[in-house]
Amino acid sequence: MDHIENNSEYAGLTVNKGIAQPPSINPYLAQRLKARRREYTAAEYVEQILKGDITVLSQAVTLVESQLPEHQAIAQEVIAGCLPYAGRSVRIGISGVPGAGKSTSIDAFGMHVIGRGNKLAVLAIDPSSERSKGSILGDKTRMERLSVQDNAFIRPSPSAGSLGGVARKTRETIILCEAAGFDTIFVETVGVGQSETACHSMVDFFLLIQLAGTGDELQGIKRGIMEMADGIVINKADGNNIEKAQLAQAHFRNALHLFPASPSGWAPQVLTYSGYYEIGIEEVWKMIDDYTDFVKKNGYFEHRRREQSRYWMTETIDEQLRSHFYNNPDIARLLAEKERLVLAAAQSPFAAAQDILDHYFER
Ligand code: GDP
Repeated sequence: MDHIENNSEYAGLTVNKGIAQPPSINPYLAQRLKARRREYTAAEYVEQILKGDITVLSQAVTLVESQLPEHQAIAQEVIAGCLPYAGRSVRIGISGVPGAGKSTSIDAFGMHVIGRGNKLAVLAIDPSSERSKGSILGDKTRMERLSVQDNAFIRPSPSAGSLGGVARKTRETIILCEAAGFDTIFVETVGVGQSETACHSMVDFFLLIQLAGTGDELQGIKRGIMEMADGIVINKADGNNIEKAQLAQAHFRNALHLFPASPSGWAPQVLTYSGYYEIGIEEVWKMIDDYTDFVKKNGYFEHRRREQSRYWMTETIDEQLRSHFYNNPDIARLLAEKERLVLAAAQSPFAAAQDILDHYFER
């Protein structure tokens, strides 16, 4: 058909036929990409991971993070294959409110760890990553020096919707990283709410980054979080801030005395440092080494890991039961129906719940 603008209405204007454009993607390149990204079997994934192939490790982590059932099936096989080679690492949780200096510190801590000849994986738990469409935690651009190191593997937080889902994927990724030879694992988490508990449940040492404030910093920090910490470090102890940091250190030390002794037998320490100017980094690391030696000798290291395994087993069961229940279309329909009744005060919430559960268990 002739071009519409050649119609007499548009007299005086002639539009020529265009020429065929080449495809925007080089077909040979597309073929090559396809060939390179061939799918491995679970055994091949495991084999390459054990050889320390970072590209294959990344691909396997993507499978772990995927929601697709066929990806999950192969991911679980890969995890099972890696499990006998996992566990030989020190896992360190690093928490702090936004702005506390987590990324600056992880860059500095990480360079220190790599300088000692260790291999480091930096993972993250950030349940908000789903909503904000991209995780802030574990973002490579935040760790400038570390991100270009061969011996560092940085992975942003999985976005799996629920905190339970995100945490489980991070926990599974730890196994793959350890099998790939990473002997130090950082799990970064933002210091708000439940994600700290999730992080604590998968690490050997929980490090809490704090800032010196106006002297009332202890009020803003939840008791439960302080009790979880194996070490509290006060960042930005540099320039005019040194005295304030030392004051905060004294406050935290005093506050920790009031807590019951930790089951590890380890007395949590409070140190000051500067991630930006790299002051006191070695001391922070000496604390973590001392802790590891201490709990490996008294048996608590293994005990804590066994307890964590137990926790993750029941946690996985809980999560799967929950998702089986809520993903059932029949239940979803009944739930909506009962919700209306409960909101209209036509049925009590307990009776409504019982009806739904009875229906579920009868199936
Ligand atoms: P995050 O949100 O916890 O990851 O914090 P960042 O690492 O992004 O740091 C927040 C801000 O604090 C940035 O502007 C950093 O440059 C600054 N900062 C981080 N560590 C230090 C430090 O040791 N001393 C000083 N003076 N500033 C720091």
